Amino acid sequence: MVTFEEIGLRPEILQAVHALGFEKPTPIQEQAIPFVLSENTDLLAFAQTGTGKTAAFSLPMLERIDAELPQIQALVLCPTRELCLQIAQDIDNFTKFLKIRTTAVYGGASIDKQIDKLKRGAHIVVGTPGRTLDLIKRKRLKLEQIQWLVLDEADEMLNMGFKQELDSILATTPKEKQTLLFSATMPKELIRIAEQYMHEPKKITVGQRNTGAKNVSHEFYVVQARDRYQALKRITDINPNIYGIVFCRTRRETKEIANKLMQDGYNADALHGDLSQAQRDHVMSRFRSRHLQILVATDVAARGLDVDDISHVINFNLPDDLEVYIHRSGRTGRAGKTGVSLIITHSREIGRIKSIERKIGKTIERKKVPTSREICEKRLLHLMDKVKEVNVNDDEIAPYLPKVYEKLESLSREDLIKHFVSFEFNRFLEYYKDAPDLNVANKRERNGRDREREGERGGRDRKRRGRVDFNRYFINLGSKDELSPKNLLSFIDSHPKLKNVEVGKIDIQKSFSFFEIDKRYESQLIEAFAEVEYGGNEIVIERSKGGRGQGGGRRDSGRKSSYKGKRRS
Ligand code: ADP
Ligand code: MG
Repeated sequence: MVTFEEIGLRPEILQAVHALGFEKPTPIQEQAIPFVLSENTDLLAFAQTGTGKTAAFSLPMLERIDAELPQIQALVLCPTRELCLQIAQDIDNFTKFLKIRTTAVYGGASIDKQIDKLKRGAHIVVGTPGRTLDLIKRKRLKLEQIQWLVLDEADEMLNMGFKQELDSILATTPKEKQTLLFSATMPKELIRIAEQYMHEPKKITVGQRNTGAKNVSHEFYVVQARDRYQALKRITDINPNIYGIVFCRTRRETKEIANKLMQDGYNADALHGDLSQAQRDHVMSRFRSRHLQILVATDVAARGLDVDDISHVINFNLPDDLEVYIHRSGRTGRAGKTGVSLIITHSREIGRIKSIERKIGKTIERKKVPTSREICEKRLLHLMDKVKEVNVNDDEIAPYLPKVYEKLESLSREDLIKHFVSFEFNRFLEYYKDAPDLNVANKRERNGRDREREGERGGRDRKRRGRVDFNRYFINLGSKDELSPKNLLSFIDSHPKLKNVEVGKIDIQKSFSFFEIDKRYESQLIEAFAEVEYGGNEIVIERSKGGRGQGGGRRDSGRKSSYKGKRRS
């Protein structure tokens, strides 16, 4: 086992790496770091998402960059703004004890500010192709001196159609440089392009390639916490052929969910650490041989399980450590198959979805929990398919048929179908008869997103706000608590008494925020927040005295509410 020390990084870097909790290099780091430290040839590296590629290319560059030399020495290109910010942040963390400066340049943000930052000097620039090229064309970014060019998530950049930008950017870089290309997959197209960009690159491949992450789509469903199990059932019901793992956080929850599923007639079982080794082996082998359709498991217990064709990974709860999410979702989409990783969550956790998106560099699509009607339809059609496809053995069945026909003689074709469907299906219909919609409404949330966008563009929100009288409120939560306009809105929206209330401007600061809502809803607002707590702390809502809201004229002392206790509903 190699350590970071043995790889030969300087103390300032080691200190930063250890401060981040990295104990030893990941496999890709173990191979890439020594290579970049000692060689100048190009590198083509393949490793799955979440394997530590950022440190794999950053650390050796940091070791070699000359902080005294006031010029851009490395350019890192990546496909999205989120990744760009993430990489820049990672590098900032690695350079905590060094005088190396990093600037991120990406679209959707003020170019002037980025130009200012570049003027102040950077050793490393992390950029998206579009903005990088824009800055080059404006002569604000000069790459003639770079020694390293990193193409991170190169496959994704090509997928997104950045080939031309890459060509133009690369044309402004010196011939003598080291190009490091990182990718999770190795499509032919990429290899072809790599040959243009690189000169006899060394290839490093870690783990299986062309598998995992890229074939996985990610979805999330927002429900009230108490509706999680119902949502799980519906998701299972609408996927009659599901072959999946449901991940729970604790052994207790694992047992509970597995028991409920079994009682409700699902082909499910639990895998957790309270079972003996023999019991665990038994469950795993039933799952592997597909005698079990749904395995409910803890992360630890599922570790020993290696199954290739899992269709769904269901996060019944988000793991505390989001890293674990990557491991969970990597259990599907293997061996060239596609898979779905889905998250059942509640509005308070929406901020964490964003963090995962950043981590995996992909969007997680918000989906609606299927309605009873959709499920019934899907199941019925599935049943009909099975009926149509069934193997009819004429010879075997022939002797029985006359009596069967006789029995059914009184029924018309239509009636026969109805009876036959009901026979199979009554249990289902009964269960879903009055089943409610489990979705936490997201209409307002969508408005919120629009509003955010409008805000970004200096928008029209004043017009919308003109219709209602707003009061402005202070809340003792901010971005550090993962409060965002989106999850604030969705919380407000999820409360029955606040369902249709107009929300005005939202201003999220680091540790507190302000927002406006229709002044007529003050008491409902205070009541709604009285029912929740955040991380065991009270939530304080206070009428803001500054009253920028159009209706906030009365300068009264504001109402303070400080409450404890979980949501009661
Ligand atoms: P990739 O680019 O391969 O998808 P990242 O570089 O984003 O992966 O790293 C994924 C996560 O693993 C990050 O949270 C990072 O902080 C963490 N990480 C990277 N290297 C190590 C290490 N050696 N030990 C522990 N955690 C690590
Ligand atoms: Mg990465």
